[in-house]
Amino acid sequence: MTDIEQNIERIKQELRSGITLVAVSKTKPTEDILEAYNTGHRDFGENKVQELIYKHETLPEDIRWHLIGHLQTNKVKYIASFVSMIHSVDSMKLLGMINKEAAKHNRIIDCLIQVKIAEEKSKFGISEKELFELLGSDEIKKFKHTCIRGLMGMATFTDSDEQIRKEFKQLKIIFDEVKSRLYKNNSYFSEISMGMSDDYQIALEEGSTIVRIGSNIFGKRVYI
Ligand SMILES: *Cc1c(COP(=O)(O)O)cnc(C)c1O
Repeated sequence: MTDIEQNIERIKQELRSGITLVAVSKTKPTEDILEAYNTGHRDFGENKVQELIYKHETLPEDIRWHLIGHLQTNKVKYIASFVSMIHSVDSMKLLGMINKEAAKHNRIIDCLIQVKIAEEKSKFGISEKELFELLGSDEIKKFKHTCIRGLMGMATFTDSDEQIRKEFKQLKIIFDEVKSRLYKNNSYFSEISMGMSDDYQIALEEGSTIVRIGSNIFGKRVYI
């Protein structure tokens, strides 16, 4: 077995059933993705639209592609025909565009709302207050081509496990609050996407249902 195959098998053994592993393949060549694919893995994550389009065109049709990075409204049209889940919805404008473009392809696109839980200013995502405004609005009820599946969050980039745990706990609390107030009888609203290579064990302990793991599977990324 190759390193990638071994890594993916090892991580999958750590995950309880019902937890989704998104293998984050950004910057990695299609050969690496195929190695993971050959173990039977089908969920892959990319953060750039250009790269996602190229890999979708090049690789097997049955891969479920997750967009995990910031998405600009004007780029939705390039991925609406095939993207499986968008983890990074952060505005009504973006959600409206996803709905509109999905309709053209007669699809319903699974979406997560990205909530800002980290202290860093650089991180994307909306506040808890904005989240309730967004999900509680009348406008969102008109969207028939998007399905809100849950929330996504990224912890602060820090060595402090305590800080990371606190932020993941906070996302779980927000999720539970949204669920009970707005999605009580909606079984689709069920996912919390949190946890990356360095913090996914903590995320799982705090209630994550989707982990997004890159370097632990494919090795360190080299940015040019
Ligand atoms: C790159 C990335 C990941 C994976 O990061 P690793 O530390 O390599 O596991 C997860 N989520 C998002 C949003 C990313 O951009």
